[in-house]
Amino acid sequence: MRTFNELGLSPEVLEPIAKMGFEEMTPIQQEAIPVALSGKDLIGQARTGTGKTAAFGIPMIEKFIPEQGLPQGLVVTPTRELAIQVAEELNKIGGLKGIRSLPIYGGQDIGRQINYLKKRPEIIVGTPGRLLDHIRRRTIRLNEVATVVLDEADEMLNMGFIEDIEAILREIPAKRQTMLFSATMPRSIQQLAEKFMIQPQVIRTKSKEMTVPEVSQMYIEVQESQKFDVLCRLLDIQPPELAIVFGRTKRRVDEIAEGLKSRGYSAEGIHGDLSQPRRESVLGKFRNATIDVLVATDVAARGLDITGVSHVYNFDIPQDAEGYVHRIGRTGRAGRSGKAISFVTQRELEHFCSIQHSIGTQIKRAPLPSLMDVIKGQQRLLAEKILAVTEAGTTGHYREMAGKLLEESDSISLLAAALKLLTKEPDSTPVRITEESSYRFRHSRPSGGRKAPYGKRHRDQDGKYSQRSGSSRRYR
Ligand code: ADP
Ligand code: MG
Repeated sequence: MRTFNELGLSPEVLEPIAKMGFEEMTPIQQEAIPVALSGKDLIGQARTGTGKTAAFGIPMIEKFIPEQGLPQGLVVTPTRELAIQVAEELNKIGGLKGIRSLPIYGGQDIGRQINYLKKRPEIIVGTPGRLLDHIRRRTIRLNEVATVVLDEADEMLNMGFIEDIEAILREIPAKRQTMLFSATMPRSIQQLAEKFMIQPQVIRTKSKEMTVPEVSQMYIEVQESQKFDVLCRLLDIQPPELAIVFGRTKRRVDEIAEGLKSRGYSAEGIHGDLSQPRRESVLGKFRNATIDVLVATDVAARGLDITGVSHVYNFDIPQDAEGYVHRIGRTGRAGRSGKAISFVTQRELEHFCSIQHSIGTQIKRAPLPSLMDVIKGQQRLLAEKILAVTEAGTTGHYREMAGKLLEESDSISLLAAALKLLTKEPDSTPVRITEESSYRFRHSRPSGGRKAPYGKRHRDQDGKYSQRSGSSRRYR
């Protein structure tokens, strides 16, 4: 089964899917939608950008009945941006049938949310904390929920939401369908599934590597103090369509964004300390390419689906392999190609190797870009611009002057001089990025910590995670 038409969906669900431009199902959709329609519990593991939202959204919308009163579906997501994004996609699919989805998240006025809830949406998409808040106030009642979805479950657990999620699941009638989607399948997820799901069918779409194949990945060995200049050089050599730069902390994100702005790049930073309207405004500007560089913390960028992100820069390397996979999944979306470039300092090399090992990919090392590379890159860009103007034929009133100049000197000398004047010398205004102690990487944590250290894990041939020693429990 490849196309949505073969699923036996009702026309009012098929029509919007076709309008959205979906033709063939993605692999996770092919496998998950029939299972979800059958009402079974399911666990779906597939890399980011593979259409998991529609994989759970379509069956929910197909099964739900409009205007029944209490919510029939609940989707739990790790961040507010993701809640908004998922609700938007579900509203597109469910609009014609009259299945309405409402995003509920922290940071938005609770009174306003209560008013929206009074309109009785069929599906609620929310972040764990705010959902619990409403459940306790009795402004969300879950007695009629037939399907609950945990989206980006690994992220939610990483963010420490496990207790909230368990509390929410306990509020939902046991006679329900539970679906869990995750890019990775750490042990904590298996435990959650054992506790709250009934014989879930596990769907893992085949891909040898965990990462997105369309993303070309490389790393550059740099000193901490070189990172900022290297970033600027790379942005000059290969101007991105849109780029996301990941920084380790909120403070660094601010500093990198400010530094970039002061050098004339159109950049903004985003992290959890910004107010919700501010975050939305920055994201809006990025989506419509008013700014082309978004500097972000992991949390702020999680799950974002923005087309046109051509480059991901790991200004600071991520904490672990999951983080790496999530970050680079921001590019190469919807089958487009992308580049992921990680800056690695000498003392992070070992940790970066363990990340490569965990994801089963060898990441190429690239040399530090030289000033010459920058100049060449700018020349190429300049040449492209000149040719574009030439083709557009908009050189009107410069032509007379050009003719006069040609009487004074030859065309090559003149053009070269003009190019020289147009070239922007690489800027080196000093920009200070605070040097902070780096992450305390998991592999250096003493054992007995909350999470299994990556270094001790390995993947077997099927890509399953297992513990190398001790009470190894496989996931079936
Ligand atoms: P995931 O949750 O797996 O990271 P998303 O659900 O966010 O992925 O989907 C990624 C993008 O792919 C979205 O823009 C979505 O609209 C699009 N998409 C999903 N399914 C299809 C499909 N069958 N055909 C084309 N595009 C799709
Ligand atoms: Mg998703």
